[in-house]
Amino acid sequence: MAKGKKVLITGAAGFLGSHLCDHFVSKGFEVCAMDNLITGDIRNIEHLFGKENFSFYHHDVSKFVHIPGELDYILHFASPASPIDYLKIPIQTLKVGSLGVHNCLGLAKAKNARILIASTSEVYGDPLVHPQTEDYWGNVNPVGPRGVYDEAKRFQEAITMAYHTYHGLETRIVRIFNTYGPRMRLNDGRVLPAFIGQALRGEDITVFGDGSQTRSFCYVDDLIEGIYRLLMSDCATPVNIGNPDEISISEFAEEIIQLTGTDQKVVYKDLPMDDPKQRQPDITKAIKELDWQPKVSRAEGLAITYSYFKNLPKERLYEDKHGRTFAQNKN
Ligand code: UDP
Repeated sequence: MAKGKKVLITGAAGFLGSHLCDHFVSKGFEVCAMDNLITGDIRNIEHLFGKENFSFYHHDVSKFVHIPGELDYILHFASPASPIDYLKIPIQTLKVGSLGVHNCLGLAKAKNARILIASTSEVYGDPLVHPQTEDYWGNVNPVGPRGVYDEAKRFQEAITMAYHTYHGLETRIVRIFNTYGPRMRLNDGRVLPAFIGQALRGEDITVFGDGSQTRSFCYVDDLIEGIYRLLMSDCATPVNIGNPDEISISEFAEEIIQLTGTDQKVVYKDLPMDDPKQRQPDITKAIKELDWQPKVSRAEGLAITYSYFKNLPKERLYEDKHGRTFAQNKN
């Protein structure tokens, strides 16, 4: 079925983008991978460079996008996606979630392609409804530190729905909850690579706040399968994809300590501003509309992920701390 179908994936060198590239390449799609490499890492996709159904465009999707020939699908996954990143590069975060999505929607319209937009549980902010259902409108601080990401993603959903209703474009919106797995950036500040990196470097494990805040972690393979099913479905309204297995951050720290066998201690640091107190997806809609639910337990997923990080060359554990900085563009 996929043979000859062409898909553009933006943010292709990122954590999720690179797994999407693997998925679509292995299914026989012709994959056009696009990334400006500000937060993406070319090493995540270098194994695909020899494949005849894979090509890479080093391009910023916030600028005009040209793809020659026909296009069947677009997956817009370009965006800084960790609090550290979008605090460092707030303007680019807003641009890729507004100008970037606008370019993708325009391209989809010109090519008559179906487009899937990566949204996020951050649209629910610090949620007052638990677990979060798709019909909850959220509790977001627009001018807080997370506002640049949360509001960009909310705008992205709004403009995507507008293209759907006004232009009749085939659109899909996935609300992605915390996801983990191989190829996360070790030093991007996200909790799982933070804890595993600290364990591997022999540093204290940093729990923010009192650790009672909760998250629900989905293994990346489950997420990718959910996204694929959503793309192929006829569901134009947003769908939560995530694993409802909820855990507090202090319990999560204990699990990582067990897994890695580190003898480092837990230290408590200030809770970042507007850090959501709880998060758990209600996936009733995904089960019903997509016949999807996660299959990989946290124990299995964490074991695979730890083994990936443990086998990285040692110097990569220190990379971002020693010199690798983000390209900065003040516009
Ligand atoms: N967190 C933590 N220690 C760290 C990094 C993160 O306790 O070294 C906490 C963070 O405050 C949040 C949770 O872990 O409550 C998940 O953080 P992450 O940045 O991974 O995701 P998000 O907050 O966007 O869900």
